[in-house]
This record gives sequence, structure tokens and C-alpha cells, in this order.
Amino acid sequence: MKSQPSEPGPAPAAQDTEAGGAGTAGTPPPLRALAEPVRGRLALAVGLQAVAALAGVVPFIAVSRIAGRLTAGSPADGEALWPLVALACASGFVALVCGTAAGALAHLADNDLQLALRRRLARHIGRLPLGRLTDRGTSEVKQAVQDDVSALHTLFAHTLLDVVSVLTAPVLILVYLFTVDWRLALFSVVPLLLGVFLFSRAMAGAAAQMAEFGAAVGRISAAAVEFASGIAVFKSFGRGRKAHERFVRATEGFADFFSGWVRSTLVTSTAAILVVAPAVVLLLLTVMGAVFVTQDWMTGAELVPFLLLGPAVAAPMGVVGPRIQQIRAGQAAAVRITELLDAPALPEPATPALPVGHHISLRGVSFSYDGHTDVLSGVDLDLVPGTVTALVGPSGSGKSTLASLLPRFHDVTAGTVTLGGADLRDIPATELYRRVGFVLQDVRLLRASVADNIRLGRPDATDEEGERCARAARIHDRITALPDGYATEVGTAVTLSGGEAQRLSIARALLADAPVLVLDEATAYADPHSEALIQDALSALAAGRTLLVIAHRLSTIRSADRIVVLEDGRVTEQGRHDDLLAAGGRYAALWEAQRTAGPDETDGVPHQRSAPVGADRAADDIREGSAR
Ligand code: ADP
Repeated sequence: MKSQPSEPGPAPAAQDTEAGGAGTAGTPPPLRALAEPVRGRLALAVGLQAVAALAGVVPFIAVSRIAGRLTAGSPADGEALWPLVALACASGFVALVCGTAAGALAHLADNDLQLALRRRLARHIGRLPLGRLTDRGTSEVKQAVQDDVSALHTLFAHTLLDVVSVLTAPVLILVYLFTVDWRLALFSVVPLLLGVFLFSRAMAGAAAQMAEFGAAVGRISAAAVEFASGIAVFKSFGRGRKAHERFVRATEGFADFFSGWVRSTLVTSTAAILVVAPAVVLLLLTVMGAVFVTQDWMTGAELVPFLLLGPAVAAPMGVVGPRIQQIRAGQAAAVRITELLDAPALPEPATPALPVGHHISLRGVSFSYDGHTDVLSGVDLDLVPGTVTALVGPSGSGKSTLASLLPRFHDVTAGTVTLGGADLRDIPATELYRRVGFVLQDVRLLRASVADNIRLGRPDATDEEGERCARAARIHDRITALPDGYATEVGTAVTLSGGEAQRLSIARALLADAPVLVLDEATAYADPHSEALIQDALSALAAGRTLLVIAHRLSTIRSADRIVVLEDGRVTEQGRHDDLLAAGGRYAALWEAQRTAGPDETDGVPHQRSAPVGADRAADDIREGSAR
């Protein structure tokens, strides 16, 4: 939201019209509900700000009265002026104190609200199923915890008080001006009415335009992501220009739309801004006032309050657009925060059960992401302690989904997954994660020292233990070559390569020492040297553990205790490498396809460097009847 260009003229954002509006019957709108804990303090801040705004007008009224007395026919009685001076000073002081107190109160309330919201979000996000976080990526979390909470800060700590000021002060001013001279007071209302009329003309159709604005910005974002992620591929084929074509088209489309919109509202929005501009209003009142005074309809002293206060009647119209936009942004932020807070947490078991041993068994397991299409159906599988089970199959056959059920990224739709005889859903989360570890394809390292990254699963581990695991994971030598060795900060002082990061995450898993481990494509995309090191690291990891590996290179899992072939979410074959080859079924075809597909095959072991490679591609070829 923040990076979007702002819309032209006074047109407020209309894209979240529904957002934060009325809640469904009985439930308050998200914004009101979120602000509930600090409602009292915010209401007090609003009251104080209203007093400050009104008190801020009084000195001007007092000055006008003083001007009246000074210019009256009889010599002014100096003594009689003092009460007015005192009133001006006192109300100015009240305005200052109340305004400062309102600002401080709103900021304190907002500060508590931010802290409470961020705590609630952090607590809730910690209880969400991991699958929800990996599906949506980290952007949703960052948006809620940072951007949306900041949008609420702008709304509660700034916009709210601004709106109170611009709505209350003009009311008192108008009342006073009407008591001085109702005819000239009518003239000071004219710019306000004209401004309202012109602003609404300029905003006519803004909802449709804003929808198009949002869509155009969305197209730029999509094209930018595609541009950034695809540029290397396009460039490597000498088609660098092609990479940015769509992006350029999207930005040109946006520029055309935007300038068209600006042009269509330019005259009315400029006129609207002009008629409410203080200088213009002052000019109008000066001219009209001069006429009134020369015609003897009013005295010169009576003109003073109009010149002092008149421009403030219409001026708030000038800030209405941005304020409405901030209110809408706050409402939309509240909706997103509420949605995240309402996302169902991973249910904790009513009657917790503890596993006995580490045998994993899947019985009649089906799973669907959308509640309709089964991605896995009727899967029966046993992972025997101390053995390595490899999942192979075409891409999209459900390997990652199946593996993600073990660390409970998702819960099964039908059937059961048990660990040591206990249903995963009955095992308390902390107990489960003590027993089931995972090394994902997309290794995430924390912005912390190498040592702390390794110790993530066991913060109390000693340096020696960390080092022992780093040696076993074949990353120790690389770490000692870093500027500060194990104390080197990852992500700032040094950036590790993909293969190094994987070995670091293997060291982390080794130290955490979970008896069951899920490895997702741990060897994909690594260079041959790194792959050999990773293979060594994996061997260390496999020792004595129950391992489930998703392998894209069949060469890496030849020695697995059991190879399971998945197709369309079903287990179609399982057994040892040699037996499956002898059986001449799917696995044998995959093996053959991969063996002949590799451009750099060495000593009979299929070996491919470029991605995407391996079983997925080969199996896709087989499906499409193009296997060699
Ligand atoms: P594999 O690991 O064998 O490539 P996946 O388990 O990633 O297969 O995917 C199996 C199927 O589930 C695919 O059709 C994929 O599109 C779908 N799928 C995977 N992840 C999600 C998700 N988070 N939401 C919806 N569908 C998904």
C-alpha cells in the first residue's frame, strides 16, 4: 500500500469501501473492535482536542474585540481592554495545554494499542499451522505486524485529532461571524459551499477510477515480480529486453490511465482547491468587506474578525481528501489484522497423548487444500525407526504435501498419522517438534551469529556440541574461514551460498537431534562439490534416525531402505532400489529416463546440474509419452 503512487487531486481512496465499514449485525466493525481497549482514552483525547480547537479560536475573537474598542469613536479605556487580553492569553494557554494533552494521550493510547496488537499477533501467529504461514509467505505477517499496525497509529494518533480540529473550530468561527454581521458571514460560507460542490464533482466516479487504479497497480506489481524472478532466465538466453517488456507495458498502461484520470479531474479539483485556499477567501472577504464598509453597512472594526477568522471556515476542505484516505487505509488495515487474528490456530489436543517410540504410520490418509480436490488419497505408509524412506514421483504428485503432514504443517482431511502410536493431533506441539525436525528446500537462516543459527533448536548447547555437528554436516571448515568464525553474523557480515546454508541447516538439525526428520529436496540445485558434501552431511544425519526424504535426483536415494513412488496422490510402488528396478514398473521407467536425460552423466550415475532437473521432469515426460 505504501509504495503505491497516490491518487490525483482530492479523490480519496475508494478501494476499501467495504473494509472496516459496518460489521455484520451484532459484531462491531473491525476498527472499533480493535480500538476497544483504548476507547476511553481516545474519547478523552478527542474531547480535549475539541476544547483545544475551540479555545484556539478565542484569542482571535478577543483581538477582534480589542480592535473594535481601539477604533471606537471615544478614546479607548485602556483598563477595559485588559480583560480581553487576559481572555486571549488564558484561552491560548488552554488551547496549548489541551492540544498537547490530547496529542500525548492519543499517542500513549496508541502506543499501548500497538504493543497489545503486536503481542496478540505474535502470540496468534505462533499458534497458526505452519502450512498457513508457508502458503501465504511472510509478506502477510509483515504487512499485519508492521504496515497495518503503523496505519492504525497514523489514524489514532494523528488523523483522529486533525479531523476533530477541522470540524469543531469552523463551527465556533461561523457562529461568531454571524453575530458580528450575518450578511458578510454568508459570504464567508460561499467558498465552503462552492468547495463542497466542486470536490464532490471531482470525486464523482472516483470509486470506479480507484478500482481501476488498484487493478493497474496490481498489474505493475505482478509484472515487477515476474520481471525480477525471470530476468536471469531471459538474460541467459540473450533476451534481456523480453524480461522487462511486460513490466514496461504495465507501467505505460498505468501512466496512461493515471494521466487520463488526472486530466479529467484537473479543472474541477484545481478549482476546488483554489476556492477554499485561505488567500482566495481572504481576497473575497477583503473586497466584499470594503464594499460593506464604504456603504456604511458595517464598521471597519467589524471587518477585522472576518479577515482574521474567515479563511479558516473553508480551509478544512483542503485536507479532507488525505484525511479520508488515511481513515480508509486504517479501516483496511483493521480488516487485515482482524482476519489474521481470526485465522484458526492449530488445535491443541483436549486429551494430550505422548508417543512411545518413533514409528510413524499413515493409515488411509487423504488430504485436500481446498476441501474438494484430494491431493493425497488413501495413503498407507510406515516409516520404521532407523530407516531412510525416499519419496519420488512426478512434480505435483503430492510428495511435499505428504512430507508436510509429519511436522503438522497441515492436518489430514481423512485417515490418521501416528507417531509412536499417538495421533499427531493428540501430541502437544512442543512434544511433537522435539521429535520431528525438518530441513526444508528453502533454508531460512536467522540474522544472528552462525553459532546461534546452529543452536536454534537447542539454545543451551555448548560451543563444542555446535562445532561437532558443524563438522558432521561438513560446514565447519567454511565457518572457520569466515571473518569471525562461529561468531560471524549471517545475513550482514556474510551471505552463505545455497549449499552452505543447507549444510548449516543440517548441522542445526543434527544438534536439535530430533529422532524423526523430514528433508525436502535437500540436494536440489547444489553444485557437484557441494552436493557431495551435502551427501556426507545427510549420511551423518541419517544415522539412527527415521528419515523421510523428498528426492529429485534418484541417484541420491539409491541406498534408501525404502523408495515410495507417488502418483496423483497415491502410492503406486514401494520397495528397495534394486527390487523396484527388477520389477520394471514406474520407478524403473523414472530411473531409466533420468539416467539417459543427464548431459553430464558420469560413471553410470545420473548427474544433472541445471534446474529443474531429475525425477520430476523425467516423470512428467513419461506421462506425456515422450520418455526416451
Ligand atoms: P510435489 O511435491 O510432488 O511436487 P506437492 O505436494 O507440492 O507436489 O503438490 C501436490 C498438489 O497440491 C499440486 O497439485 C499442487 O498444485 C497442490 N498444492 C501444493 N501446495 C498447495 C497449497 N499450499 N495450496 C493449494 N494447493 C497446493
